[in-house]
Amino acid sequence: MSEKGKPGSPEPWRDKSSKPYIRIEHLVKKFGEFTAVNDVSLSIYKGELFSLLGGSGCGKTTLLRMLAGLEIPTSGKIFIDDVDMATVPPYERPTNMMFQSYALFPHMTVEKNIAFGLKQDGIARSLIAERVSDILDLVQMKPYAKRKPHQLSGGQRQRVALARALVKRPKLLLLDEPLGALDKRLREQTQFELMNIQEKLGITFVVVTHDQEEAMTLSTRIGVMNAGQIVQIGTPQEIYEFPGTRMVANFIGSVNIFAGRVIEDEPDYVLLHSDEANADLYISHGIACAPGAEVWVAVRPEKIVASRTAPAETRNQLKGIIKEVAYMGNLSVYLVKLETGKIVKVTMPNQVRSSENRLTWDDHVYLSWLSTSGVVLHS
Ligand code: ATP
Repeated sequence: MSEKGKPGSPEPWRDKSSKPYIRIEHLVKKFGEFTAVNDVSLSIYKGELFSLLGGSGCGKTTLLRMLAGLEIPTSGKIFIDDVDMATVPPYERPTNMMFQSYALFPHMTVEKNIAFGLKQDGIARSLIAERVSDILDLVQMKPYAKRKPHQLSGGQRQRVALARALVKRPKLLLLDEPLGALDKRLREQTQFELMNIQEKLGITFVVVTHDQEEAMTLSTRIGVMNAGQIVQIGTPQEIYEFPGTRMVANFIGSVNIFAGRVIEDEPDYVLLHSDEANADLYISHGIACAPGAEVWVAVRPEKIVASRTAPAETRNQLKGIIKEVAYMGNLSVYLVKLETGKIVKVTMPNQVRSSENRLTWDDHVYLSWLSTSGVVLHS
């Protein structure tokens, strides 16, 4: 099990006394009139695998390039290990960057590609051989040491690029869509390898990705970006279970969102009415909002239960008809049309093998969820 998954594992960002390794303060990058990165402040701690996640053009790569020193900030500051990076050129930073394109030298073998940076640094030959050999072991590319990049698969090239970035033992490794060129299966496999390597070497990783599943799998924390700004920072679980806005909820996984108005708001519960669900929705915590305020309730598809018989609890209960069913093996996805016309997505595990009694097209069903399952969003 990974360190980050262990109960009680250190989470330095929660500890007021721990010092961040990277401090980004009010960072802005403008290209002419266009603001690509807009007032980003962020702290990243040693040993983290921090993902910058967001749609195309939201400023992730620009932020990463400023960390590497490849782009000069318009304003704001970056500190790495307490050193102001304003006047530190890229080659003097404790960083190394792995690019989207991998940028391997086509005429050099795998071994030589990896050794290149060390040679340039004037490291002794015997030491280079040792370090290249170690890193080839780590990325499981020993058998391919004598091949050239065009004799490798995409996944293997990716590992060589990773090895080349790691061999210089940077304190901070910056990765731009590191797994972008791989197919789904290989990407999943490589994600775990990347996590293992990161844990073994204790390097701090900052990873740019637009793939939310990848960010969820890899990261200690995720910074979700939109239009040049960081809109939420949290552990994968926090971002998934407690998205702060509709944009984040929608971006990270599937979600049903019900617009509603506050009826009662007390410290330990909030009661809302949703016209589009034609139902009262009840959430087991207060939100400090005035009655009548417009809010949204997000409910993940896997938190909703669909059944043919009415559940005893009448709150958070909707009625509808199954319009679509997708059998996915381990689970089934249902699209349920409410009387109001709104479509609700429900996923339920397929616990029994037989298809008898399984919900199907045109079944009239009740949908329900626990009062702890909904999340109230204010924007
Ligand atoms: P993607 O996932 O598509 O790579 P991204 O979030 O990494 O997107 P950036 O590459 O950081 O996005 O770009 C952010 C915005 O800044 C984009 O709108 C891009 O067109 C613009 N931009 C980036 N570099 C430059 C540049 N050198 N000159 C002008 N505009 C730029």
